[in-house]
Amino acid sequence: MDKLSLPSTHRKFIQQFKDDQACAAFLEQLRWPDGFCCPACQTIGVPWRQTRGRLVCAACRHQTSVTTNTILEKTRMPLTTWFDAAWHLTTAKSGLSAKTLEKTLGTSYVTAWAILQRFRVAMVRSEREKLSGVVEVDETLIGGVKEGGKRGRGTSNSVVAIAVELMGFGRIRMRHIENASGTNLDAFVCDAITKGATVHTDGWTGYNGLLGLGYEHKKTIISSSGDPAHVSMPGVHRVASLLKRWILGTHQGSVVPEHLQSYLEEFTFRFNRRTSKNRGLVFYRLMEQAMATKPVTLSNVTYGYNLNHFAGGAN
Ligand SMILES: [Zn+2]
Repeated sequence: MDKLSLPSTHRKFIQQFKDDQACAAFLEQLRWPDGFCCPACQTIGVPWRQTRGRLVCAACRHQTSVTTNTILEKTRMPLTTWFDAAWHLTTAKSGLSAKTLEKTLGTSYVTAWAILQRFRVAMVRSEREKLSGVVEVDETLIGGVKEGGKRGRGTSNSVVAIAVELMGFGRIRMRHIENASGTNLDAFVCDAITKGATVHTDGWTGYNGLLGLGYEHKKTIISSSGDPAHVSMPGVHRVASLLKRWILGTHQGSVVPEHLQSYLEEFTFRFNRRTSKNRGLVFYRLMEQAMATKPVTLSNVTYGYNLNHFAGGAN
């Protein structure tokens, strides 16, 4: 990290990553901070360099490249395109849609979409540390709110569970769940929140299992407290409305249920770094995760997939 200088403006960014060689050198430092390590024989040493970024292990002659077995593997796009996309993705205040990225990069829509989806997979891995302290948990509905429906609990396939840490860093976690059943909510809370934390929810029976799972459970029954949800649970209420605004604004509301989770990952990555003054550092984190995340297939990023599958990541 100390060895790497981070660009602070787009101008400096373009200068620093002017060609694929400069990009590859940066990735090598992220992937092998202690020097090239051969994936076949684990020997650490200076590799031989061949054309098109091929690296050859001096000990066993194994051929590899800096992007092999990462999310950037087998890309037909120049590394400069990936870098440019990551820069725009991490510096645009509200992110950007595949449509906007298509224009910005001058690629096809399909390419822009595939890049975005791969970076979203890389974002999953960075959000593994559990929330702690006092955490508000609630669900919200994304898209297709049923006319006259109460809260859509158990009725919609676009229910999003949200956890918001009230102290410390104020981090969030989100998950697209099939419905607001106790089973789904229990699983979400266990994955997102440290045992022993205080979980603040409303009176929904789906949260009744939390005490038995090792959490302190603070329950506010909204209808009897007389306060609307945004007063008694301000954290989740605020995050839910920001999420909805982001989907409507940046993505024009066009998020299909099978891809909702990947958008939630991007929103979470972005939200949890909202106070970072150094955009270069956010770019750095994303590229670092991209190097540490195993490849995904194009069909995986095109047709939706279970992102939790990737949460463990590579290495
Ligand atoms: Zn080797």
